[in-house]
Amino acid sequence: MNIATPPAQARPAAKAERPTRQQAEEAVRTLLRWACDDPTREGLRDTPKRVVKSYEEFFAGYQVDPFALLERTFEETDGYDEMVLLRDIRVESYCEHHMVPIVGRAHIAYLPDRRVVGISKLARVVDAYSKRLQIQEKLTAQIANTLNEVLQPRGVAVVIEAGHQCMSTRGVHKPGVSMVTSRMLGAFRTDPTTRREFLSMIRGPAAGGLD
Ligand SMILES: [Zn+2]
Repeated sequence: MNIATPPAQARPAAKAERPTRQQAEEAVRTLLRWACDDPTREGLRDTPKRVVKSYEEFFAGYQVDPFALLERTFEETDGYDEMVLLRDIRVESYCEHHMVPIVGRAHIAYLPDRRVVGISKLARVVDAYSKRLQIQEKLTAQIANTLNEVLQPRGVAVVIEAGHQCMSTRGVHKPGVSMVTSRMLGAFRTDPTTRREFLSMIRGPAAGGLD
């Protein structure tokens, strides 16, 4: 099976450009001082270490190649060619303008053409792109484009609904607002019936999970 070379933005940043852990911790100390607190007081003494550790988790996506996640596909599907939909996938991302959380959910569908992929892999692709500094529009497009390139299905649809902390806890201070973005490719873009079916399935009952 041939897998396209991932685009530059999908590849992890070069290790050489990375500062040391100590430098990263020092940068947190600087920000603590900028907030007008004292990084040497007891409560803050270990904070730089914890923040840097948290960053490893928040931005783990840079270490993951989303294309490699989808390497293993299955062709024994007994001709299954209907929509495969994964909905309400938790999204935890970080706004690239303010470095604060974007939290929401993604719904992903595709129309297989012979090839299917393990469903947990779809959720991992969401993580690989969301655990980075992002804007929701780009996140949505990256997920859809990756699935489209690797699976070469008859169509891909990705919808993300998310709240942006840079809008709720700063700036305009408007909590409870969700931003909805979508990217439709193939049949989801060209066939209104397919698109309608997808949109009604993501809004159907049992949202929030069955387990
Ligand atoms: Zn922002």
